[in-house]
Amino acid sequence: MNIILFGPPGAGKGTQAEKLVADKGMVQLSTGDMLRAAIAAGTELGLKAKEIIDRGDLVSDDIMVGMIQERMASDEAQSGVILDGFPRTVAQAEALDKMMTDMGIDLAHVVEIKVDEAALFARIEKRAAETGGERSDDNADVLAKRLKVYHENTAPVLPYYEAQGKLKTVNGMDSIDEVSQQINEILAS
Ligand code: AMP
Repeated sequence: MNIILFGPPGAGKGTQAEKLVADKGMVQLSTGDMLRAAIAAGTELGLKAKEIIDRGDLVSDDIMVGMIQERMASDEAQSGVILDGFPRTVAQAEALDKMMTDMGIDLAHVVEIKVDEAALFARIEKRAAETGGERSDDNADVLAKRLKVYHENTAPVLPYYEAQGKLKTVNGMDSIDEVSQQINEILAS
């Protein structure tokens, strides 16, 4: 089964994806993690991406679609994936649809983790403290920019999937376990 976890930065996409990996053996494809790995490896792409990520902007659709296409074609992806952080634009969603059609696979659900945005600043500050500031984009200034980019570029992806009847919403203000239970119910439906 292939699903998308959708929501603004700090909604809990990564946390819920990790739970699905642990509980159901699904495969997580996090574009943010892939970009951070490229940065850590010091590749040319990583150098370019770091600047963009630190500003809170989006990496280009071409690069992101290419990155996901490569991973979707891998053996590990064949039993189903959790897309975490992709698609982030309508163009990426359209490219994903085409890719999946060409591969003869389906997208089962798009799970929107809905959150109260005022709470995100506190969450991101908490994550920065817990991870020792490992993510250079986890601070109030960059978060404000990432939220602006979310509203302008990423939120328009929601009506795209709503029109396909794939959009399901969970309450991201509930506890991690409650959100996880809501997601499990959707996956079982
Ligand atoms: P994340 O870990 O998902 O919050 O992603 C961190 C940053 O990586 C984002 O703020 C973007 O700069 C970049 N990024 C991750 N996924 C994408 C994507 N699908 N499209 C464009 N940029 C992305």
